[in-house]
Amino acid sequence: DAVQTATPDGKGAKVAGITISNPDRMVFPGDGVAKLEVAKYYERVGELMLPFVANRPLALLRAPSGITGELFFQKSFTTHVPEGVHQAKLPDGDDIFFVKDVKGLVSLAQFSAIEFHPWGSSLKNVEKPDFLTWDLDPEESVPWNEVLGAALLLRDYLRERGLEPVVKTSGGKGLHIMLHLKPKHDWSVMKPFAKSVASAVADFNPARFTVTSSKSKRTGKIYIDWMRNGRGATCVAPWCLRARPGATVSMPINWDQLPELAKSGFTIHEPAEQPKEWRDVGPQTVKISLLRELGVL
Ligand code: ATP
Ligand code: MN
Ligand code: MN
Repeated sequence: DAVQTATPDGKGAKVAGITISNPDRMVFPGDGVAKLEVAKYYERVGELMLPFVANRPLALLRAPSGITGELFFQKSFTTHVPEGVHQAKLPDGDDIFFVKDVKGLVSLAQFSAIEFHPWGSSLKNVEKPDFLTWDLDPEESVPWNEVLGAALLLRDYLRERGLEPVVKTSGGKGLHIMLHLKPKHDWSVMKPFAKSVASAVADFNPARFTVTSSKSKRTGKIYIDWMRNGRGATCVAPWCLRARPGATVSMPINWDQLPELAKSGFTIHEPAEQPKEWRDVGPQTVKISLLRELGVL
């Protein structure tokens, strides 16, 4: 396949209209995954990812020498801007960049990006989140079943309040629960909302959960990390590869897949499907009455 798509000079390979240089260079040396395979992965899942990554401020985790080399977290461009990547200045003066299409994602993969970390708000409405994320971070000793249970508890808390979240693996140690919203309230409202939800769930079992990032208070517990929900905060996108051994993926799943979900999760080799719940979930609104009840309005 690589030969088939090689450019006439034999140095690169074309993916989604982008010439991939050094296509055979190892990105995940322990897994035998080369740069061309990473680019092709993003070509394959790009359309599914776009609602979560296009036209919103992005951060990248880049691995120019593969994941065993130095990793760079990048939030802006100063000099060379890759093809299909656009820059903008937000009203407050923040310089951000974004992509509009799959070509932009593949172009960033060519630029050695492995992970895409979008904001929870889009450029059209950058002060008003359209995705909230609760990031379940289990400390090492926490049994995986408890992580699954925590996700269900959080889901049920939201469901009982008329909200329908979706779940994905983080591709690392935990799970991410996302809530798709109409961009209605500012970050200044939705961040405390996210915190209140995390606290309410943690209160069900304070021996097992914490909402404090302090490592010393996390021993044996699951940290319900609500801090992703601020202006400028980011979270790895659904279907995104992780720059970690195993070439793991932050994989969206249906809630009924959760009970049999293995701790090891999914990798680049799994077929990337769109779970029904992720296809069907529409933007929702948190009722004013709930915001009042939680004391955030
Ligand atoms: P895990 O399951 O291992 O917790 P995760 O995706 O939830 O995986 P991290 O990858 O550790 O957690 O990301 C933590 C947060 O920090 C995310 O909001 C991410 O966007 C951001 N981030 C990741 N790497 C960097 C970095 N090098 N510098 C600044 N922020 C980062
Ligand atoms: Mn996490
Ligand atoms: Mn976290």
